[in-house]
Order: sequence, then C-alpha cells, then structure tokens
Amino acid sequence: MSIFEQYNFKGKKALLRVDFNLPLNESFQVTDDTRMRAAIPTIQKIINDGGTVILMSHFGRPKEGPTNKYSLFHLVPHLQKLVGDQNEVFFASDCIGEPAEKAVNLLEAGDVLLLENLRFHKEEEKGDAGFAEKLSKLGDVYVNDAFGTAHRAHASTAIIADYFSKEEKMFGLLMEGEVKSAEKVMLQSEKPFTAIIGGAKVSDKILIIENLLERATDIIIGGGMAYTFWKAQGKEIGNSLCEEDRLPLAAELLKKAAAKGVNIHLPVDSTIADKFAADANTKNCESHAIPSGWMGLDIGAQARADFREVILSSKTILWNGPMGVFEMEKFQAGTKAIAEAVAEVTQKGAFSLVGGGDSVAAVNQFGFNNKVSYVSTGGGAMLEFFEGKVLPGIAAINK
Ligand code: AMP
Repeated sequence: MSIFEQYNFKGKKALLRVDFNLPLNESFQVTDDTRMRAAIPTIQKIINDGGTVILMSHFGRPKEGPTNKYSLFHLVPHLQKLVGDQNEVFFASDCIGEPAEKAVNLLEAGDVLLLENLRFHKEEEKGDAGFAEKLSKLGDVYVNDAFGTAHRAHASTAIIADYFSKEEKMFGLLMEGEVKSAEKVMLQSEKPFTAIIGGAKVSDKILIIENLLERATDIIIGGGMAYTFWKAQGKEIGNSLCEEDRLPLAAELLKKAAAKGVNIHLPVDSTIADKFAADANTKNCESHAIPSGWMGLDIGAQARADFREVILSSKTILWNGPMGVFEMEKFQAGTKAIAEAVAEVTQKGAFSLVGGGDSVAAVNQFGFNNKVSYVSTGGGAMLEFFEGKVLPGIAAINK
C-alpha cells in the first residue's frame, strides 16, 4: 500500500495539487474531463476518511493576472457532478490571501474547495518560495496528483513540498500510478523491451532515443521522423519531412545503436501522398525510394507487418508518438496497426505504457485505451522521465 493509501485524512485539510487544465468550449463547458476524472479517486479517499480537500491547479496560460477566461470558477459545476451530491464543492476567488483563508476556515469534513487559478500569480511559475509558503499554510498535508506538471519546478508542484515534513507530503493515487508504471518500464523492464517512437520531429525525440539505447532491446521508429533516418543513410525520401540539420545526429544514433546491439526498426515501406491533405492521391512505396513530389505520410503494409512481429515478441512496450498523420483517415492504418499489436501483446501478459499527447489521442480514438497496461496523462512529464531527467515534482516528494 502506498503512503497515501495508508494515511488517515480524518480531521485533516489536504492540499491537493491537481491538473485541471481542461479544454472548454466558448460557453465555458468542459469538452474533455479526462484529467478531472483522473483525480477523483484521490479526492474520494480523502473525503471518505473524513478529511477536507483543498484543490490547487493551473489553468491555461494567463499572461496578465486574473481574467474570466482563465478562471477555474467555470469548472465548479462539472467538478460537483463528478464529486457527487453528498459532498459540496466550494470556490475561493484567489488561491492565497483572505479569500482562500476564509474559505478554508469554513470547510467541514467531506467538503471540497477549489482555489482560483494558481497562474494568476506570476510567482507560481517562477517557483517563488514566499508564494509556496503561503499556499502551504492552507493545509495540514500536501498531496501531489498532477503528473502532467511534474517536470516543472513551480511553487505548487515542487517548492511547496519543502514546507511539509516527510510524513505530510505524498503522491496521490494518479501520480503514484504514473510513477510506478514509468519506473517499471524504465528501471525494471522485462526483456525484450521494445520502444515505439513516432511523431513529426526527430529533434523532439533525440534525448529519449539516446536514453532508450541504454535500456531497450528494440526501437521502432515511425512517423515523420523516420525519413530523416532514411536520408541519413543516403536514401531518397522525396518531399517527406526531413530535418536536414539533424542528419549527422540521426546517422550517429544509428551507429550507436549498432554498437550497443540495439535493433533499430525503420519502416521499409510507406503510404505516400502527392500532397499533405486528406484528399491526396496515395500509393504504397519503398521508404528509401520515394519519388520527388511525393511524401511519406504513414508506414506501409510491410512495415505494419514487420513492426507487429517485433511488438508481439516483446515483454515490455513503451509507445510515444503516432506512426503517421493519423488525424487523416487515409494515413491511419499504421498507428491503428500498432495500437492493435500493443493491445494483443498486452493481453498475452506484456506490460505496455502509452504516453505523449498524440499516441494517447490515437489509442483513445481507436478504442484501445483499456487494452494497454497504462495510459499516461503526462505528455511532457513522461517524455522528460524517459529522457532520464529528474522530475522536480517527484524529487520534491521523495527527498
Ligand atoms: P509529435 O507531436 O512530434 O509526437 O508529432 C505528432 C504529429 O506528427 C501528428 O500530428 C502527426 O500528424 C504528425 N506526423 C506523423 N507522421 C507524419 C509524417 N509521416 N509526416 C508528417 N507528419 C507526421
């Protein structure tokens, strides 16, 4: 059992950092409540114990202090719905100072209080110690359940932990699950361990590939970034995405992989298109001989079969980034095939972790979200974790 699960919150005010940075429509209604739902089990445990919950979150990127557009007030009705009728949700018009203190003092066991957007104070993103200390005074115990911001050393995600004793700071259930599954893949992976890396740009994924060269047995590279690797070997990639300035680095990564005995799998064929559009003309083509005027927008049929084989013989899978422009129907097949193979190998007992905005969107879209072992909620945080960096939000709790 985790420290959070063992802790008895009866009579305690729990200061809970969540990620309620949700998308809203023009009428301020929540259009995707995944992140809010993800925090509900942690909230429930605290109120079931007889504690009170004080929620802190950022919301959007307000540049100039408080604005209605970025007020967390808009989220109260939806939060109340998810928390249920037995427990009341209150709102404080500021996250520190009198409005916050007054609202906290009125709380009774089982109540939930949502504090106004932390980023209305510029001290939050600066990691200001004075601001963190003011926040810390609102609660008896600090719980961090915002994995999505764990890679930031902000006041509420990291610095605040300095004002609580070791026994009074902990991960919530969501964060605990994220950290455990990421550590399982990174530190205790059962071999063969296949990392599937896709997406548009090599430059975004260099560090993660370098770090995975130390841990993975196989690395599948798909998506737009695969073509830079083909070009680095002197191949013709037509008008496919290519980062010219990364060609030497791509060549070096291939050399390093060979030296370390890590198998790099590139898509041998592609679905190519005569323009970047949903109604483009398409055909199948070898990825290393794409004619001028054509671009690879998805992995081809042979690559799907090759990658499937590698995935099905794995015991651990990490997947970050789509295999093609899956937002357009004509270029979905590659990403869908990968999702299917990952689901299949998971059913056979492998551990699979999917993370990063677009691959999460893809598994959700294709209905595989419940068929993989873990879907991470933290895009940037997950990427940094697998780059081998220390995440301030995790370190602050562990120290
Ligand atoms: P990233 O944010 O780097 O993970 O990249 C995700 C984006 O890469 C998605 O929007 C995809 O449409 C895009 N993408 C994937 N494959 C390709 C490709 N072959 N050419 C251009 N864009 C691609």
